Amino acid sequence: MLSVVIPAYNERENIPAAAKEIGYVAGKLTDEYELIFVDDGSKDGSWDIICGLSEQDKHIRGLRFSRNFGKESAIFAGLKEAVGDAVAVIDCDLQHPPALLFDMYKKWQDGAEVVEAVKSSRGKENIFYKMFAGLFYHIMKKSSGIDLDRTSDYKLLDRKVVNALNELPERQTFFRALSGWVGFKSERVEFDVAPRNAGKSKWSFFKLYRYAISSITGFTNLPMHIITWSGALFFVFAVILGIQTLVNFCMGNAADGFSTVIILLLLIGSILMLGVGIIGYYLSKIYEEIKCRPRYIISRRTGQPDNRKDNGH
Ligand code: UDP
Ligand code: MG
Repeated sequence: MLSVVIPAYNERENIPAAAKEIGYVAGKLTDEYELIFVDDGSKDGSWDIICGLSEQDKHIRGLRFSRNFGKESAIFAGLKEAVGDAVAVIDCDLQHPPALLFDMYKKWQDGAEVVEAVKSSRGKENIFYKMFAGLFYHIMKKSSGIDLDRTSDYKLLDRKVVNALNELPERQTFFRALSGWVGFKSERVEFDVAPRNAGKSKWSFFKLYRYAISSITGFTNLPMHIITWSGALFFVFAVILGIQTLVNFCMGNAADGFSTVIILLLLIGSILMLGVGIIGYYLSKIYEEIKCRPRYIISRRTGQPDNRKDNGH
């Protein structure tokens, strides 16, 4: 059985087209398939459309979050819900071409356990977005060794991988990297990012920023090491300047070097604040994790009896 997880947030215009196109491909691949729409707290009536579709088509199921919990949560809720031997994750806006599932499914049948779709081009994006993404991928690669360049959330996973992901205890996840982190035999297929079918991208700058920070802090402690190293570097400076100051003092020209003091004060002050900020990010992450709050709350289901107990953990 093939399950396809489709996170959707305010995708009213895209859901019917996605259900049709993805359903068509899945139907060609196997008779036994399910499309799981995870409505991430949409406010535009997406849920009614999912309910309508699931009444017409027994292959379609839906989950609805009680509010917007973010795409990561939607993906993980879908993975938990899926019962297939292979589980695909695909965007609802048809930017991930469903026809690629033919290739991905074939690779899975040939023994691959993680089939990743990588972007051969990044599609149309503005230069600012490109730079931000480039910097983020660079930091991730240098610090955690995970090469995320051109990767996407479009993947097909074997049941073993899905189980491994479902068992991860952490709440702040980063699907794109975790599916590589869990290991297993992986293969890649390339695709060109299609333009959005309808509507606008759901990622605001701040959402992306939060996503980037949470994935970096989730995968590497390098920023904390950098703080320690710069502390050591500044200690060396401090010793040299301290000696120079003492020598000056002994020679009776202690008033000199006022600019040095100001520059050092500003520099050290900002580095300290940066350090506190970075430690703060990690602390807040620990705080988030120990609160043990669920990753998402499901308020409704459609397309199957409501007898499962999924509390988001
Ligand atoms: N999405 C979601 N929750 C969110 C934001 C986005 O489930 O808070 C879904 C969205 O409906 C779409 C997918 O994630 O199916 C990718 O979102 P989008 O197209 O906005 O991102 P982009 O393609 O611009 O990276
Ligand atoms: Mg998109």
